[in-house]
Amino acid sequence: MDLDLSPAQRAFRDEVRAFIRDRLPADIRQRLRQGHPPRKEDTVAWQRILHERGWAAPHWPRAYGGAELGTMERLILLDEIYRAPAPLPQVFNVGMLGPVLLKYGTEAQRTFFMPKLARLDLWFCQGFSEPGSGSDLASLRTAARRDGDHYVVNGQKIWTTTAHLADWVFALVRTDSEARKQEGISFLLIDLKTPGITIRPIISIDGGHHLNEVFFDDVRVPVANLVGQENRGWDCAKFLLGNERTGIANVGLCRERLDYARELAARITQGGRPLSADPALQAEFAELDAEIRALEITNWRFLLTDGEQQRLPAFASVLKLKGTELQQALMALLARLDGLGGLERRADADTPRHGPLAPRYFYSRAGSIYGGTSEVQKDILAKAIVG
Ligand SMILES: Cc1cc2nc3c(=O)[nH]c(=O)nc-3n(C[C@H](O)[C@H](O)[C@H](O)COP(=O)(O)OP(=O)(O)OC[C@H]3O[C@@H](n4cnc5c(N)ncnc54)[C@H](O)[C@@H]3O)c2cc1C
Repeated sequence: MDLDLSPAQRAFRDEVRAFIRDRLPADIRQRLRQGHPPRKEDTVAWQRILHERGWAAPHWPRAYGGAELGTMERLILLDEIYRAPAPLPQVFNVGMLGPVLLKYGTEAQRTFFMPKLARLDLWFCQGFSEPGSGSDLASLRTAARRDGDHYVVNGQKIWTTTAHLADWVFALVRTDSEARKQEGISFLLIDLKTPGITIRPIISIDGGHHLNEVFFDDVRVPVANLVGQENRGWDCAKFLLGNERTGIANVGLCRERLDYARELAARITQGGRPLSADPALQAEFAELDAEIRALEITNWRFLLTDGEQQRLPAFASVLKLKGTELQQALMALLARLDGLGGLERRADADTPRHGPLAPRYFYSRAGSIYGGTSEVQKDILAKAIVG
C-alpha cells in the first residue's frame, strides 16, 4: 500500500488549506492555537463559512447541505481543520444526529432538521448517559410514557456536553420497562425550551463549564419527535455510536499540538538557551512524531480496507485508545513546557503566559472516559486477540 496521499488527494488537501487560510478568522485561530476550547460563537461562525462550501457536513447528501465527500477526502478535511486550528463542525449535529435522521428519520424530520443542523441554526446535544448508566448504557432509566399524541418524559441525564448552550437534545428514553433492556428504548428529539426541563452545570477540573445534568419532570414531547420505531431506539444508538469513526483517532489534533509544542520550545528559554536545544526534548518530539505517523497510517488502513474489516470493533478500539493516549501525552508535554507558571490560577484568566495549557491537560484526561472508556476498549481488544 502506498503510504502517501494520491496526487488528487494532495490537490484536495491544498484546496482545503487555501480555503482555510483565506476564510478562517484570525482571532478564532489565535484562541485555538493558544489552547482555548472553541466558544459557541466561534463554532457557529466557522461552520457557516464551511457550509457555504458544502463542507460543514461533508459526507451528507448534497440535497441536505452536504458535499458527498468520500472517506479519505473527509478525513483530509477534518485533519486540515484540526491543524489550522479551527473549530470542528459541531459533532452532535453533523457526525451523530444527521446520519441517524438519514437512516431512521421520516422525510418530514429530515426536511425540517437537516438544513438547520448543517448551518447550526439549531444546536443539539446528546442525552444518553445517566447516573449509573454510562458504559452499560442500555440500563438507562429515564422513562417516556405515552399520553395521546405526546410522550411524558421523567428522569435525569448527566455529563450532557453543551446542554446549557443547546436548543435541543436527542435522548434515549425507556418506553417499555418490561422488555429486555435493549428492546424497550426509544430515540426522542426534545426541545430544551419545553416546560419541565432543568439544566444544572457541572464544573470540570479545568474550571470550565462544558458539562451538565439535565432533569426531566413531566416533559411533554410530541410523538412526531420519535426517530425510528418505538422501542427500537437502541438500533439508532448503536448506529450513531458506531458510525462516527472517520476522525476517531484525531490525528490532525495531535499534529497541531506537536507543532505548537515545537513552536513554544523554540520560544521559551532556560539559562539563555531555547528549550528546543535540549537533546532529550528533541528525542521526545521525534518519538511523538513517529507515533502520530503510525497512528495516521493505521487510520488510513482502517478507512481504506474493505467493509468487513472496518466493522471489526477492535480496529476502532485501537484508534480510539492510541489516539487518546497520544493526545494526553501531548497535552502533558505542553503543560510541562509552560512550567510552574502555567499552573497559576489568576483572576485575569485570559492572560496566562502561553494559553490555558495546564487546564487543557487536565481536561484531556476525560478522553479516556467519553466515547467509550479506555478499559472498555482494552476489553474489546483482549476479546479480539484471545477470543
Ligand atoms: C468530558 C465528558 C463528556 C461527556 N459528554 C457526554 C455527552 O455529551 N452525552 C452523554 O450522553 N454522555 C457524555 N459523557 C458520558 C460518557 O459517555 C460516560 O462517562 C462514559 O460512557 C462512561 O460511563 P460512566 O461515567 O457511567 O462510567 P462507568 O461506566 O460507571 O465506568 C466506571 C469505571 O468502570 C470501568 N468499566 C465500566 N465497565 C467496564 C467493563 N465492562 N470492563 C472494564 N471496566 C469497566 C470504566 O472504564 C471506568 O473506569 C461524557 C463524559 C465525559 C467525561
